[in-house]
Amino acid sequence: MAGIYLHIPFCRKVCGYCDFFKNASLKHKEPLLKAMKKEIFLRKNYLNEPIETIYFGGGTPSILKIAEVENLLQTIYDNFEISKNIELTFEANPDDLSKEYLQGLKNIGVNRLSIGIQSFDDKVLEFMNRRHTAEEAIRCVKNAKQAGFDNLSLDIIYGIPNSDVEYLKENLRQLCELQPTHISAYHLTIEQGTPFGHLKKKGKLHEIADENSEKQYLFLVEYLQKQCYEQYEISNFCKSGKISQHNTNYWMQKPYLGIGPSAHSYNKEMRQWNISNLKKYITGIEKEDLPAESEELSVKDKFNDYIMVRLRTKWGIDLEYVQKTFGNFYLENVKKVLKENKEDFVLKNTTLLLKPERFLRSDYLIAKFFVI
Ligand code: SF4
Repeated sequence: MAGIYLHIPFCRKVCGYCDFFKNASLKHKEPLLKAMKKEIFLRKNYLNEPIETIYFGGGTPSILKIAEVENLLQTIYDNFEISKNIELTFEANPDDLSKEYLQGLKNIGVNRLSIGIQSFDDKVLEFMNRRHTAEEAIRCVKNAKQAGFDNLSLDIIYGIPNSDVEYLKENLRQLCELQPTHISAYHLTIEQGTPFGHLKKKGKLHEIADENSEKQYLFLVEYLQKQCYEQYEISNFCKSGKISQHNTNYWMQKPYLGIGPSAHSYNKEMRQWNISNLKKYITGIEKEDLPAESEELSVKDKFNDYIMVRLRTKWGIDLEYVQKTFGNFYLENVKKVLKENKEDFVLKNTTLLLKPERFLRSDYLIAKFFVI
């Protein structure tokens, strides 16, 4: 089973923290959609497995008209074998989700919505340069449910400058009141080159202290646990098995095809990433010359990838799999790191897991296993 990701790189407004590839002008929308359809056709043999998940991400997919989304989907259906139980996720901004738009998405087969709420505090939303208010977000979730969407993922950001546990508590209370089946909670990071990054450089914005980060993270995990959400990945929580199948497939290292500028693809032997430039992407596709770079994966790369994606999840790494797939050298490496860092990991039979309370330091801890 495999997945397809479509990157819609347009946003009406740029959020202060965002470092995704996006463009605030819709000037190239028509040629881009044409190019994406052509890319789907040109790469129809990239995956030799039925498609189990389709994910519209961005940018802001909800900037597209329903007919445009349907058109992209039809091109996929015409060129790939699609599983009967497809998970079809669509990322949306609250202010795009009118009742008519929601009904349109439902009619074309979207069965999972991922809505960027980010905060229930209008001042914080304004600070982040979001387009919507808290009230609009709440209304759109209710409308989505009325339209029949029973698989809803809501995104929230914590660790915002000047925030504390009380702020988070109030936001989580409002979030859980909406009873989403899935929650993605991300700690705000200030990336270079973003509007927040520029403010930080000038000394006008600062990340919260590590101690505050840790308090907020531990509070988040405990709060959501009490509300019966299972944490199945560092930033992802779900009710009764409603995991994001698409993202889980990434972590399970299933193959996926990324369509659109900046989209990444993976077929178990190679990684490939399309150019992050609208014009070059469109012209390249017009000439049937996909503007992308790729990298063949060595055993070492595959091992490092396996460690990196799996230790962030509840599934952890399987030592038997490590030995069988990568060999004794890699198994001994895992055992050595484990011996030196016993307090950070748990070993259950042959499964090695990162302790949930260590998730905030996961990048640092996971890197210890990498073979250079
Ligand atoms: S809407 Fe999403 S992709 Fe667009 S700027 Fe905001 S965070 Fe980035």
